[in-house]
Amino acid sequence: MINKNDEIELSIESMGNEGEGIGHTGDGMTVFVSGAIPGDRIIAHIIKFKKTYAYAIVSKIISPSEHRVEPLCPVSGKCGGCTLQHMAYDEQLKQKEGKVRDCIERIGGIKNPPMEPIVGAERLKNYRNKAQFPVGTDREGKPVSGFYRRHSHDVVNMPDCCIQASVNKPIVEAVLTFMEERKVPVYNEETGKGLIRHIFTRVGFATKEVMACIVINGEDLKEASDLAVILKDIVEAEGLTFVSLCLNINKKNTNVILGDKVKCIWGRPYIEDKIGDVTYRISPLSFYQVNPEQTVKLYNLALEYAGLTGNEVVWDLYCGIGTISLFLARHAKEVYGVEIVPEAIEDAKENANLNGIDNAKFQAGAAEDLAPSLPCPDVIVVDPPRKGCDEKLLETILKNAPGRIVYVSCDPATLARDLKILIAGGYELKHVRPVDQFIHSGHIETVCQLERT
Ligand code: SAH
Repeated sequence: MINKNDEIELSIESMGNEGEGIGHTGDGMTVFVSGAIPGDRIIAHIIKFKKTYAYAIVSKIISPSEHRVEPLCPVSGKCGGCTLQHMAYDEQLKQKEGKVRDCIERIGGIKNPPMEPIVGAERLKNYRNKAQFPVGTDREGKPVSGFYRRHSHDVVNMPDCCIQASVNKPIVEAVLTFMEERKVPVYNEETGKGLIRHIFTRVGFATKEVMACIVINGEDLKEASDLAVILKDIVEAEGLTFVSLCLNINKKNTNVILGDKVKCIWGRPYIEDKIGDVTYRISPLSFYQVNPEQTVKLYNLALEYAGLTGNEVVWDLYCGIGTISLFLARHAKEVYGVEIVPEAIEDAKENANLNGIDNAKFQAGAAEDLAPSLPCPDVIVVDPPRKGCDEKLLETILKNAPGRIVYVSCDPATLARDLKILIAGGYELKHVRPVDQFIHSGHIETVCQLERT
């Protein structure tokens, strides 16, 4: 029997969904240990327990895994962001590939899935193009920004995040100085009072365009246009172009970072970026893959698996700003993109124009609702959020019986669940290839190709 605050000796056998280590006690209880990696022998400190499993942190490492390395970042371990910085990158890839295989075998019930080697990254630092820094106060009440301490909502001052673009540090520092000088209040989650909640940024890696968006619990930020002038100088000093300062209005008392309303204060309400030879316009509310160097590999794989000859009708469901749709459109007869966020669909339409692509059509709405009325497809691409495809949508896909399905997934467990349904409905799994988009985190993207049998 385990209790809170117990210290138990444990061997870490595998890696969990968030990059945590997993071990078992003598009586078969599963223990999830943040900060531990497979191969570690540790003393685990139990912080929470249930009937058959418990959560723990590392109290002491008795003998380290051979894959342990010095983390890149001085606050690794404290920050709730990167969970794998202390694992050698080769081993991160091996673990993530193993996780995908395991889900497909165990949840999908597919023996020996046709796995291809994981696509690893060259750039292990400063790879992210989107940052969301929470704003809080220190003991003296001064505004600070950085990250949430692991398992909490305490903001630790650390604007220098090593997986983010380096321009974020001076941007965050300038916003904090602006707040201090002009006495702009920090939002307080507990009381629901105060103004500034998050500092959100986007950087176009190909275009060097930068956007800052201040998330506020209110309608306005006084003297925001002064802030734009300050940020413009800072961004230009880094050799980049400042194109946008926006406010995002979020007056709800929730953990969701962005609200539904965006006001542009300076410049234009979007940045542009390029993946391969396609240019994209990206608004603050639109989804855009966070690791551009890996995204081009991901989309090329989706294109390869789609096997297009130029004559196909293609559905791109959960299309975001039309990124995959436009990547495929030049190789297909027609592409139909569906996405639930209306602003993203506006971006998608604009993106088609921007690139002179006239065979991609976009509709805003839920994929499960709109798919039944789309023209009969030869190829279907889906790229759903972590919860996977809606059951109703999987039925519509099977009813339409396309020759090929390309499934792009950011959660191997829901991917495996959906593959099982598609296979039972008459498809064969031909290729599975993980692509590492989220270096130093436990998350993994996977692309699969299915063919009708
Ligand atoms: N393919 C895109 C976006 C993938 S992320 C890209 O690579 O950039 C998943 C997208 O699904 C998000 O844009 C999200 O807003 C959208 N989404 C979530 N639920 C949806 C639903 N039920 N129907 C359609 N789109 C949905």
